[in-house]
Amino acid sequence: AKVVGGGDSVFFYDEQMKRDMERKLEITDYLKRAIAEESPVVLFQPQVNTYDKTVYGYEALVRLKDNAYFPDQFIPVAEAAGLVSSIDRIVTKKVIQQQAAWRAEGREMKVVSINYSAAQLRDETYCDFVESLLREYDVEPRYLKIEITESMMLENEGLAEELFSRLEQMGISLALDDFGTGYSSLYRMATTPAEYVKLDKSLVDTYMVPGKEDFIDHLTQLIHGIDKKIIVEGVETAEQYAICKRLGCDIIQGYFFARPLPSAEAGAFDPKTVA
Ligand code: C2E
Ligand code: MG
Ligand code: MG
Ligand code: MG
Repeated sequence: AKVVGGGDSVFFYDEQMKRDMERKLEITDYLKRAIAEESPVVLFQPQVNTYDKTVYGYEALVRLKDNAYFPDQFIPVAEAAGLVSSIDRIVTKKVIQQQAAWRAEGREMKVVSINYSAAQLRDETYCDFVESLLREYDVEPRYLKIEITESMMLENEGLAEELFSRLEQMGISLALDDFGTGYSSLYRMATTPAEYVKLDKSLVDTYMVPGKEDFIDHLTQLIHGIDKKIIVEGVETAEQYAICKRLGCDIIQGYFFARPLPSAEAGAFDPKTVA
């Protein structure tokens, strides 16, 4: 490895870094083409009401054609390259179109959650874009939820607050995603206007184990105590589902019920068929 720079700017440059950079450029090129063709597709992962085992709604999760790359790989690259807003506008449009299509099939309308990145905060006309799509497809704003993250508040508190209050005014609900990871703070959780808190899969993996549920039990009581609802992510087993039920977690999302599904399967999904 060569050392480049001096003083504070010393860094290591080696083959691995070169490969990473090439890969990022390759993904960036791919994304630019995918965006121009509007080819990213949306999968819908069912979210299930814990007690009556009915579908509460879906989380919209983006996929590239032929799964060329997965979100954990390409979303960070898209964020860094300033492309994430374009991807999320495509996702938003496809979600609203899908809701109108489900309604046309005579299905009951459900809430669909869309992920929103901190890097999108600079897209100042996103809310106008959403508003005009809702009008065009005659979908009520209460059927949309936006998943926000604490990193948005860390990045730019002013812009984040503006976004939250605009979405609230529009009648779109908010969920705080990935709670329990990274720099999670109880203060930020309590002060966001998000009505739903999504417990991250890492908490499920660590604490939704017989004999270790106390922590989630207290967290659930705390979140309910400030009038928020809980969505548990990454529930994979019957045992974890049983723990969620016992602790009073409101909504469950995870492979135990269903993976992210193409729209036709998602629309027809019935959680009662899952033992
Ligand atoms: P996220 O928002 O926390 O989404 C949940 C992720 O967990 C999804 O991965 C989902 O497929 C996965 N998952 C759900 N249940 C289970 C389970 O039981 N077990 C396991 N192992 N995984 C489960 P996915 O679709 O690969 O997305 C990864 C991340 O990429 C998302 O995390 C989100 O941060 C981001 N992302 C996905 N779609 C979009 C999008 O349309 N826009 C933006 N901005 N970000 C997106
Ligand atoms: Mg999410
Ligand atoms: Mg999440
Ligand atoms: Mg996550």
